Amino acid sequence: MSDVVLSGVFKRYGRVNALVGADLTVPAGQLTAVLGPSGCGKTTLLRCLAGFERLDAGEIRIDGTLVAGGGRHLPAHRRNIAVVPQEGALFPHLSVAENVGYGLDRAARRSGRIDEVLTLVGLAGYGDRMPHQLSGGQQQRVAVARALAPRPSVVLLDEPFSALDAGLRTGLRHDVREALRADGATGVLVTHDQGEALSVADQVAVLCEGRVVQSAPPTTIYREPADPWVAGFVGDAMLLPAVVEQGAARTALGILPVTGATADGPATVLVRPEQLRFADGRDAVAATVLRHDFHGHDALIGLRLADGTQVTARILDGAAPVPLGGEVTVRVDGAARAFPARTLAGLPAEYQLTA
Ligand code: ADP
Ligand code: MG
Repeated sequence: MSDVVLSGVFKRYGRVNALVGADLTVPAGQLTAVLGPSGCGKTTLLRCLAGFERLDAGEIRIDGTLVAGGGRHLPAHRRNIAVVPQEGALFPHLSVAENVGYGLDRAARRSGRIDEVLTLVGLAGYGDRMPHQLSGGQQQRVAVARALAPRPSVVLLDEPFSALDAGLRTGLRHDVREALRADGATGVLVTHDQGEALSVADQVAVLCEGRVVQSAPPTTIYREPADPWVAGFVGDAMLLPAVVEQGAARTALGILPVTGATADGPATVLVRPEQLRFADGRDAVAATVLRHDFHGHDALIGLRLADGTQVTARILDGAAPVPLGGEVTVRVDGAARAFPARTLAGLPAEYQLTA
């Protein structure tokens, strides 16, 4: 089991700065998800780790050993790292067993390792099939088995499930996590899907414009995002202007207890839609129902407050409390997370989530 540490990694392609001082620690034996929007440098980070790219600055250590940086560049085949690409990874003219055994020496092939990893990924007995006789999901399972077969110190997965149906993806990513765990492998899963990252990873590293902006367990990323951008990227977020005074924030949703280190004065506070309750009482505020988006397992209700602020409530039973245009009263359950007000400035327009 190996831990992997990237420190201050820079990577440029011509004029494009793909990584600008990326720091990341991948703990041994765990699955770390690298989460970020398209173009933020996820694939570049994996390619640097794997040894397919040379760093412009910074360093990478695996188990304490310098593999890149300071003039050193250990070639990909000497890093003991396996990569599972997005799709199309299998040799079409080789059987499943031959695909899995491709990187193994003869002794390892005879040792039963091929059957062992096929069992780990839920494909025991499929060794004689040809890739075209498998579904897309099964092909990705074979790709994972092939990556695990030579017992690499680290397995890198670059959006390996993105070409699959949503329903298939959920089962597959859990099985893949269990296979990595059972084999004691250290995994890095790249994804732009926050649901995927939060549900399977032991640790989530959020990448934004070439830099890791937060690295923490999924619950921490969701409940204690480092900044408003992370808050908006890892879930539905309402970011409201507020004035903080002695641990409470005055907002359009009322006076809310706050968490997070914030000095008194102007602030931005995060409220999640599941924190809004339809309730009356002294601390409830009036709202008009604007939208009702049914999602099966829940529904999102768009509301406009008296001052024009738009907010969203998540309700679980899916039933609209009142018709569109109707009046309700709402209240925030729990604390709001506060950020210094200035952190909103400088965010790209699409992350200006204050409705
Ligand atoms: P992601 O995987 O998060 O979508 P990438 O690592 O592929 O992001 O890309 C990061 C940035 O680097 C993007 O702006 C992308 O256009 C650019 N880039 C990636 N590969 C190359 C390349 N070979 N040449 C030039 N620009 C590249
Ligand atoms: Mg990519």
